[in-house]
Amino acid sequence: MKAMRLTARGSPLELRELELSRPGDQELLIRIEACGVCRTDLHVLDGELPDIHCPLTLGHEVVGHVLEAGSAVERFRTGDRVGVPWLAHTCGVCLYCRSGRENLCTDARFTGYTRDGGYAEQVLADARYCLALPPGPAAELAPLLCAGLIGYRAYRAAGEGSSLGLSGFGAAAHLLAQVAGHEGRRVFAFTRPGDDEARRFALELGAVWAGGSDERAPELLDAAIIFAPVGALVPEALAAVRPGGRVVCAGIHMSDVPGFPYRLLWGERQLSSVANLTRRDGEEFMALAGRLGLRARVERFALADANLALERLRRGAVTGAAVLEMPASSSVATPAARP
Ligand SMILES: [Zn+2]
Ligand SMILES: [Zn+2]
Repeated sequence: MKAMRLTARGSPLELRELELSRPGDQELLIRIEACGVCRTDLHVLDGELPDIHCPLTLGHEVVGHVLEAGSAVERFRTGDRVGVPWLAHTCGVCLYCRSGRENLCTDARFTGYTRDGGYAEQVLADARYCLALPPGPAAELAPLLCAGLIGYRAYRAAGEGSSLGLSGFGAAAHLLAQVAGHEGRRVFAFTRPGDDEARRFALELGAVWAGGSDERAPELLDAAIIFAPVGALVPEALAAVRPGGRVVCAGIHMSDVPGFPYRLLWGERQLSSVANLTRRDGEEFMALAGRLGLRARVERFALADANLALERLRRGAVTGAAVLEMPASSSVATPAARP
């Protein structure tokens, strides 16, 4: 099977032919239909996360069908459609695992980071961490597996307030804006200054206001979630929330947060981060996505064009989410010319 491989940190992915082993007792061998391209993939590629071992296949928003299930797998069978999320394995015995916080497991493994992911035609995944999915086109479901569900963990952490700021209107924010709309919340979208396309997109998805991250919303907000990997947005977001409000950082990596006056935090404002997901988050979010008929707006790319997808994401040029789509047969197009 073919995979786009990271062979050295910081270098473009390379199309390689690989042979996967048979699935272990608890594993599924999955034929991939689509894999989302997440901002985290860029942090791995750029070496901004610790313990990256090359060669590696990126991608942790995987939708596919089970080709073969290990002998001990009970939840899925050959032919079932499954989603493979970021959380790939936990120890089950640490303080966090024993207290319902397996997202913080000290011995966790992650798809497309500490084990091979979905920028490929096939993947092996531990069935105990795979998710059943609502019906829909694979490409439009793939972004639910990280942007959607880790975004939703951030959304819950932001509390119950009626006004919510979303900073960085990409894959996660465009899904959460839809959820927030269903729940009657008012979304205020903060985009890159001058990005009219993103502003229009946010308003189209129901945001009541959309402006640049250098602008102030017309009112103080109950909460704000920061998706952009830009530490300078932290004091900006604190200044945008009311006393008692919350600011949640949803990304895995951010540039350094600059110093800021204590008065921005004072007034019982809360600042927190969200890390990873639990399997329970995944099940709850997929059930919600099914009830709402939640779909991502996507830009589709061939597997061999993964580098192009990553570069467009890096430039902020993707509207909604970027997704790699694998053809049903094993043939993969040759890479397109770089722009
Ligand atoms: Zn653990
Ligand atoms: Zn992700």
